[in-house]
Amino acid sequence: MMREIKNVPCPFCGCLCDDGVVIVDDNKIIGTRNLCRIGHQKFAHAQKGRFETPQIRKNGKLEPVSLDEAFDKSAQILANAERPLLYGWCSTSAEAIQIGCELAEACGGIIDCTATLCHGPSLLAIQDQGAPSCTLGEVMNRADLVIYWGCNPMHAHPRHMSRYSVFPRGLFRKRGRRSRTIIVVDPRRTDTAKLADLHIQIAPGSDHMLVHTFREIINSYDVTHETVAGIPADAIRETIEAMGQHQWAVLFFGMGLTQQMGKDRNIDVAIKFIHEFNKYIGTKTVLMPMRGHYNVAGSNVTICAETGHPFAVDFSRGYPRYHPGETTAMDVLYRGEVDAMLNIAANPGTSFSNRALAHLAKIPLINIEPHNQQSMQISDVVIPPAIVGVECDGTAYRMDNIPIKMKKIVDPPENSMPDTVILGEILKRVKEYV
Ligand code: SF4
Repeated sequence: MMREIKNVPCPFCGCLCDDGVVIVDDNKIIGTRNLCRIGHQKFAHAQKGRFETPQIRKNGKLEPVSLDEAFDKSAQILANAERPLLYGWCSTSAEAIQIGCELAEACGGIIDCTATLCHGPSLLAIQDQGAPSCTLGEVMNRADLVIYWGCNPMHAHPRHMSRYSVFPRGLFRKRGRRSRTIIVVDPRRTDTAKLADLHIQIAPGSDHMLVHTFREIINSYDVTHETVAGIPADAIRETIEAMGQHQWAVLFFGMGLTQQMGKDRNIDVAIKFIHEFNKYIGTKTVLMPMRGHYNVAGSNVTICAETGHPFAVDFSRGYPRYHPGETTAMDVLYRGEVDAMLNIAANPGTSFSNRALAHLAKIPLINIEPHNQQSMQISDVVIPPAIVGVECDGTAYRMDNIPIKMKKIVDPPENSMPDTVILGEILKRVKEYV
């Protein structure tokens, strides 16, 4: 029988839009409403091309095995490893991540999430400086100036502007888009930039310099150069003046800012700029990272709640240690220091560098993943899970760290258990082996 399930959160990007409608007929997803094209595709393809059984590599080939055998083999790999890496976590539930932390502690490994490759620098800067931030609801109700820096929500977070920041009518912004000014800072003329009132087409890699110049102007220093970061100094002064005409501003920033040479230093100065803007200009200003995967914010929140640190937590000495640059996934793989890896809810085959993948190919790899992906070719154990937000429920955190309850829409395939069950079974066995 066909049924419509309403108010479904979308398990794709950090917007976690929770107004989706999913149409289901006889346990098959046949359509969606309200979601963007990416969100629709997530549901439309969730049930296609799935691994039907767990698999273990034998004589060089992945062969179907029972769930019990797969749990056992995974536990043996983790228990026998000196320093395993438990990586991923951005597209699973907070409850699964909680068990993941316990598993990392039990096998003396490192737990790291995909933030290590995207907003890790933001977390470092926020730990140093603190972050004046808010919820997306406040942005909708209050923001009359929206700045997107180094991000392109038109493509990466397609409903961000229509649900939260630019187009919706808010309590104090009754005219929606016409109540707001939009500034985009990006070296490229992106589709988001085309919608903006002002596009600051900065020279690539010079964001740090431009933020510092903003700070110089706010702090009444002279800008002696004619152009900074490819922008005439007069235009920078005018921009600051125009920004000061607004009541409530938000700066959303993406990997264009976090993944340049300056990394956390870029965010560090951006936070200082926001503090100074609040102090001297009078426009209430906040900032927020544009988190990518739907629960990458939740992976930081949960790992932090469990261990005291947001990512890259190393239990190899029996207690949680956090040294980004030393205990981060990429660094331990580069140095060949990990001797096994469990990957869950991430795709290292497309996001890791060749150097990291070269080491990964030499060590046992457990992959908890429902669909075929590049790293399957080097996996030793594959366990297909139920998909959170489609086939099982759980908690995820939106990019503003608001928890959202994910819904179960359809039943999972016969051999696919929730990540919480899979990790719980592996943990139980690891405790017996170590
Ligand atoms: S914007 Fe993100 S969360 Fe919202 S429907 Fe699109 S993919 Fe899903």
